[in-house]
Amino acid sequence: MADQHCSICAKTKEEVKILLKAGDFHICDECVKFAGQLLEEQEAEMNKGKPKFSRNFTPADLVRHLDEYVVGQEDAKKVFALAVYNHYKRLDKKNMLKSQVKVKKSNILLIGPTGTGKTLLAQTIAKQLDVPFTIADATSLTEAGYVGDDVETILQRLIMDADGDLEKAKRGIIFIDEIDKIAKRTAGSSITRDVSGEGVQQALLKIIEGTNARVQISGARKTPGSQAEFLDTTDILFICGGAFVGLDKIVETKTSAPISMGFSANVEREKPKKGAKFKPDPESLHEFGLIPEFIGRLPVICTLQELDESALRNILTQPKDAIVKQYQSLLEMEGIELEFEDKALDAIVKLAIENKTGARGLQAIIEEKLRDVMFHAPEWENVEKVIVTEKMITKGAEPKKLVREAA
Ligand code: ADP
Repeated sequence: MADQHCSICAKTKEEVKILLKAGDFHICDECVKFAGQLLEEQEAEMNKGKPKFSRNFTPADLVRHLDEYVVGQEDAKKVFALAVYNHYKRLDKKNMLKSQVKVKKSNILLIGPTGTGKTLLAQTIAKQLDVPFTIADATSLTEAGYVGDDVETILQRLIMDADGDLEKAKRGIIFIDEIDKIAKRTAGSSITRDVSGEGVQQALLKIIEGTNARVQISGARKTPGSQAEFLDTTDILFICGGAFVGLDKIVETKTSAPISMGFSANVEREKPKKGAKFKPDPESLHEFGLIPEFIGRLPVICTLQELDESALRNILTQPKDAIVKQYQSLLEMEGIELEFEDKALDAIVKLAIENKTGARGLQAIIEEKLRDVMFHAPEWENVEKVIVTEKMITKGAEPKKLVREAA
């Protein structure tokens, strides 16, 4: 019988670990592995810049993923997920058809009190889609860029997050926080607003609606040195977020039915029920101080609700990377189990509500209350379990410690 050898590299059966046979054809394990690597590289090249989800995900999948990290905000998640899904679907369709389909962007406006999950929503979706992501603070933006950041800086950061890959950056997500703080000052406004607000809105408008922006790039891995590049912002998804304090009152006066209407200028209106959701409309946003062109670029509006006690309680333990789970895994590394009594969790929530810090404050409270435990735990030799009690949270008592029994 003739010597069996790999039909590709010609190595004999003795020279390789496995030699596969298919008819008259032979292939060795090394060539199979090499071909696998080539396939992966080829596939990665073909998918460069494309978001992963477009081939496999539905809006409901996105909501399910958001559910793992963001507590509550069901309505906002649905509207948000659908807008994000549509955005990337339109981009893919445009590429697929290679035609001049006019893609109208659906940038998103998230309205809700501070610490309710606006940034978290944007961050979570970007991570899920594996697209570059950056956060900008509208209050640090200037129209001319002399002081603070200008809009070019935002694009630079996005490119950095894409490791200098401009194609990837073009399909990224930019979250602009505190967008309500660049509302223009309106006559009779009681809220002090940045006088240059309108100018900043104008500057942002250009990149939001799509422009070929010149960006100076330096230090990115794939673009050593410093050089000017052009970044087309047409396909970048912009998500703006803000608390819009007072907007509900504006909406209320516009939409509630007058109870009494007389010759008096003071028209009494029906009060909305406490906790009722309000639906911001373009007109109210304009009255708040956003310019109409800017509002027009943010056609999807999601409102997030203030988190109540039970939502805060869930935030402590439910999300995949919940604060409690994070501390448990930190102590697990020291070989110590960490347990929170139910009443201790309730007390943490109560404290966060008292401090008016909401979800943002939960982590700070746990950080402070567990500081001593985290500090000393690496030196505890026989402690197998630490129990966080209510008294530890409310009165600064020592935690319960269970000691490992001697063998
Ligand atoms: P904002 O609405 O001001 O953008 P963030 O998204 O930055 O609020 O939330 C601040 C922190 O509070 C987050 O890092 C997260 O830990 C927590 N948080 C806020 N809202 C939620 C939520 N709905 N679900 C889970 N965690 C939340």
